[in-house]
Amino acid sequence: MTPAVPRSAAAGRDLPLAFAPRLIAWQRHHGRHGLPWQHTRDPYRVWLSEVMLQQTQVSTVLAYYPRFLAAFPNVQALAQASSDQVMALWAGLGYYSRARNLHRCAQTVVTEHGGVFPASAEQLQALPGIGASTAAAIAAFCHGERVSIVDGNVRRVLSRLLAFDQDLAHLASQRALWDLAQRLLPHAPSPDDMVAYTQGLMDLGATVCLRSKPLCERCPVNSRCAAKAADAVGCYPVKSKAVKRRHESWWLLVLRLRLADGVDRFWLQRRPAPGIWAGLYCPAVFASEELLMAALSSGASEGVEHLDPMAHSLTHRELRLHPVLVTATADQTFGSDGLWVSASELAQRGLPTPVRALYQRLVA
Ligand code: SF4
Repeated sequence: MTPAVPRSAAAGRDLPLAFAPRLIAWQRHHGRHGLPWQHTRDPYRVWLSEVMLQQTQVSTVLAYYPRFLAAFPNVQALAQASSDQVMALWAGLGYYSRARNLHRCAQTVVTEHGGVFPASAEQLQALPGIGASTAAAIAAFCHGERVSIVDGNVRRVLSRLLAFDQDLAHLASQRALWDLAQRLLPHAPSPDDMVAYTQGLMDLGATVCLRSKPLCERCPVNSRCAAKAADAVGCYPVKSKAVKRRHESWWLLVLRLRLADGVDRFWLQRRPAPGIWAGLYCPAVFASEELLMAALSSGASEGVEHLDPMAHSLTHRELRLHPVLVTATADQTFGSDGLWVSASELAQRGLPTPVRALYQRLVA
């Protein structure tokens, strides 16, 4: 059973002075050193990795990061790319607003900053899609700025270390924790110290101070950790707001065109923005089977096959996808923002993960 949250030890008390030097020393000996976005001071590479790592596991990003860099090796290349090219390389990473902001940010850096990212965290935050923590990571890694990251992992570490008992669902509490994070920074650090410290915060959250079952015996600051001292690690971070997911059913019209050349084509529409999967390609979506069948009645088709439904979880929604495969005998279309795509061209389009899996089954 989780013990009651003890009274906060963070507010107004002495912060653990040894935290920064211990973390730096630990990172240099026990932290992660082989990630492909480390050992660079190129803001473009650091920014790209930070955006990809928001809400996405390192193991997933490891596959996407080199592919993205190979296609867009610098901010100019990304700025010049079409949104279709960007979305195609992002497809599967989820949280697609990140890709749209990434593209917009690259264009802003090129048009308004001559292709050079601003150096300070404050200026970086003015760019599209760059929040305070991402800006701090770029400024600390690339320029040694004395500024703290505070992403979800770091909030967990610091709230335990300091027994920070304010509800992190509230912005004011997040700001208060940020202030404490700033006070924990190393004093007069060299740029290399800031790199080790920032990476150390990330590494501690990702490999030791885990969400469940933290490895406190391996933690470099366990003797200074207020939550551990109070035997109340499970009480932190305090966050009251639970995400409630809405259940929704989508009916997908998987329209297949069979022509005399023997090459199947599929009708795809670009999802509107704002909304789920905005900018990605998808079969036409209907809110009910009746609406889908009504749309079909106007066109020539042979055979309607209900495929197995699929479940897909988003941050705020549980989607139940009902694909209906229809083989069209004439060149029907459904809306203006769509196109017929051959099986071989599907790979070049940005498709949401469950939609890609569906087509892979169909063309296998
Ligand atoms: Fe996290 Fe445990 Fe270290 Fe405290 S001692 S910071 S709870 S890993």
